[in-house]
Amino acid sequence: MSAEQTLPTVHLYNSLTRSVEALEPAAPGRVGIYICGPTVYRYAHIGNLRSFLFADVLRRALEYLGYEVKTVKNITDVGHMRDDTFDTGEDRMELAAEVEAKTPEEIAEFYTDAWLTDEAAINILPVDVFPKATEHIGEMIDLTQRLLDKGFAYEVDGTVYFDVSAFPGYGKLSGQRLEQMRAGHRVEVESDKRDPEDFALWKRAGTNRLMKWPSPWGDGFPGWHIECSAMSLTHLGEHVDIHTGGIDNKFPHHEDEIAQSEGALGHRVVSIWMHGEFLTLGDAKMAKSAGNIIRVTDLPEKGFEPLAFRYLALTAHYRSKLDFTEEAMHAASAGLRRLRRGTQITDTAEVEGVDLTEEPMASYRQRFADALADDLATPTALATAHAVAAADDLAPIERRALLLDFDRVLGLGLDEPPEETAVDPPPGAAELLERRAAARATRDFATSDALRDELAALGVEVRDTAEGQVWTVHH
Ligand code: AMP
Ligand code: ZN
Repeated sequence: MSAEQTLPTVHLYNSLTRSVEALEPAAPGRVGIYICGPTVYRYAHIGNLRSFLFADVLRRALEYLGYEVKTVKNITDVGHMRDDTFDTGEDRMELAAEVEAKTPEEIAEFYTDAWLTDEAAINILPVDVFPKATEHIGEMIDLTQRLLDKGFAYEVDGTVYFDVSAFPGYGKLSGQRLEQMRAGHRVEVESDKRDPEDFALWKRAGTNRLMKWPSPWGDGFPGWHIECSAMSLTHLGEHVDIHTGGIDNKFPHHEDEIAQSEGALGHRVVSIWMHGEFLTLGDAKMAKSAGNIIRVTDLPEKGFEPLAFRYLALTAHYRSKLDFTEEAMHAASAGLRRLRRGTQITDTAEVEGVDLTEEPMASYRQRFADALADDLATPTALATAHAVAAADDLAPIERRALLLDFDRVLGLGLDEPPEETAVDPPPGAAELLERRAAARATRDFATSDALRDELAALGVEVRDTAEGQVWTVHH
């Protein structure tokens, strides 16, 4: 039997088919993942980072399960316009350059560095390839030419548009029909498109434009969507096993990417499309435009370590909305401390001496692996880690060995000594309080009420205040 045959089957939710499917990599045992990356014109907030965290956990999980993974995450340093739908407005990079009185290249370098530092603070592993849009202009021009040659695009005065009516599958990812999209369209600003749903592959450079390149259609620059098609084809080839992004990338960005890549190649390119849900603050999506952003670097000032945010993200399934609150962060910090306590040992035993294939370790590992293979059920994986930390059928060194093994996926720095605080809830109640905070973060009030009753039975009274969940113990 070959190594590939022993790999566990992984089930993932495919946004395209709207169902959970078995992952069947084009090359058995090897998975190519394209992660829709950042536009580097401003600092990333923890909402953006939730999306990248989900991709990081996906990659770590597949590696844990024995797959060989190649990850590509693009850096958009040109062409992402302020108004994606209408192909109007200004390039985010150039606008930031103007506001900060820097060149677009300086803006890109500065915010790329800041973003990589933020990712490292929450243990997001570097991917294998970080392609930059500005370094793939030639590939974008070639792809645009190919779409023109095949009748999927047309040129108007130096700008090339994709003709959505030429691609019958347009709308399949977002589940929209072309007629409905047209009907819902607001007043069109630009008039040289044949159809309001057509989108720019290449844009003519205006007179004040800084970032521009020569092309068969004159000086111009690429559209945001063609960038991801060109970079994924360049680095992962004509078959991409998994493509990830935040939920807002589904339309128009990924819908357009499908039209471009499939139009040019004449076959399906991406097997599984995965989209992570939003991080919210109160009821609003965390976004710069909403003025409610929090950065990873803001967390220590609020008394939280960045890895507590990673823990918080793991408490929710990637397809559920997650609300960022101080209460949830306190619960996450407490949960992280409990897991770290589980790795502490007093003797000098080495984890290398523990055989994880022996029982009961093997069963715990199986539970953890099964959770990951079940559409990345991180809440269940975390619960398994807590079960290990509290297990009395394991010796301290076995607990430590298992938790450090799980930490290859969790990435929570579990080897670090826990920071002890005076505010820890009484034993037994800690996990219930944490689960209740997590339930409230995902607005699962039925579970939260049930947990309140369980806590009451332990003599712990919980109240919900503006500052979050507070508890008192009755003896
Ligand atoms: P951008 O740099 O603006 O292209 O965004 C980077 C990534 O962050 C994209 O995949 C977005 O879908 C994602 N994103 C933006 N806001 C949020 C949010 N509040 N929660 C989760 N993901 C988000
Ligand atoms: Zn993209």
